Amino acid sequence: MVIADVSDPGPPRAGNVIVRPEAVGICGSDFHLFSGDVGALSGARHFYPRIQGHEVSAIVADPGGTASGGAASGGAASGGAATGDPAAGDAPATVSQGERVAIWPLLPCGSCYPCRIGRANVCPRFRLVGVHLDGGLQQRLEVPASTVFGVGDLDPDSTTFVEPASIAVHALARAHLRPGERAVVFGAGPIGLATTLAAAAAGAHVTAIDPLPARRDLAKRLGAERVTWAPAQELRDEIQDWTNGEGPPLVIETSGETGVLPQALDLVSAAGRVVVVGMSSGAAGFRPGLFPEKEIDVLGSSCATAEDFRGAINLVRANRASLAALFSHHFPLTRTAEAFEIARSRPPDAIKVVVTVN
Ligand SMILES: [Zn+2]
Ligand SMILES: [Zn+2]
Repeated sequence: MVIADVSDPGPPRAGNVIVRPEAVGICGSDFHLFSGDVGALSGARHFYPRIQGHEVSAIVADPGGTASGGAASGGAASGGAATGDPAAGDAPATVSQGERVAIWPLLPCGSCYPCRIGRANVCPRFRLVGVHLDGGLQQRLEVPASTVFGVGDLDPDSTTFVEPASIAVHALARAHLRPGERAVVFGAGPIGLATTLAAAAAGAHVTAIDPLPARRDLAKRLGAERVTWAPAQELRDEIQDWTNGEGPPLVIETSGETGVLPQALDLVSAAGRVVVVGMSSGAAGFRPGLFPEKEIDVLGSSCATAEDFRGAINLVRANRASLAALFSHHFPLTRTAEAFEIARSRPPDAIKVVVTVN
């Protein structure tokens, strides 16, 4: 990792916006990309070198014009979004200069099956700002207007949390939660905490499960009715008691631990849903007969749509006071390596690490 001078993107190209990043959240996936562990992401050779940062709070420096203005003005092609980007499209910026924005980092292809049916979040050709394209860990960033969303008077830390919160909002959209339902959320890392918050805000009674007491405390603060951690059998008994012997109708797995899916399939009520958010490259063993026996819906959930992103802005805005406890570490841009070290080593007191830019 180096801190280096890069050329200024200059005026925005057609359909793009220039923003001034002010804070960037660092998450586990940033460390994976940094260390070359790109998992299922395709086209790995295009990833490096890369200016990372996909959980971005920024101020609009130049909102650009409409599609007719600007044209390809050239300039050093140091920015992320290339001219001719299908998602850069014609949409004029709907943000104004000086406005604080969060960045929905997803640039879908717009033409594949998931894109055609409104599920661009799983476009196999999508590109992510900060992953496939340069991201927020720089002083000026050019992005398509389609990626910038005004956040009103939200503070920079909270604004960096809109992106992780959008993952939770999408998981809840997949879950088709009914108000008053009991839901179990495995994992109380940033995504698990956001999921607990989103589920509780949507009217669910949530039990959050995590081995770390500090994280369980945060889950409670964000609306979990109960928090717990126990060996599998004990946990099963506890959850059975909580649900009058039926099992919860909804289980959401955010931990990425391979042993959790079999546990979730066992715990969930007949006719229930299991939503899998946690990423993992390992294999899990379970008995497929459980699916027909209990008629379980197992739903994967990945990234977020633009609509989820808007929902996440509202969720974060409504809960900014309780979310403030999540921002455990701050580093200036020049100390980004230390922020990544925390993302790698995950000390128990670390929840969200924020790099301040500019
Ligand atoms: Zn992230
Ligand atoms: Zn697509």
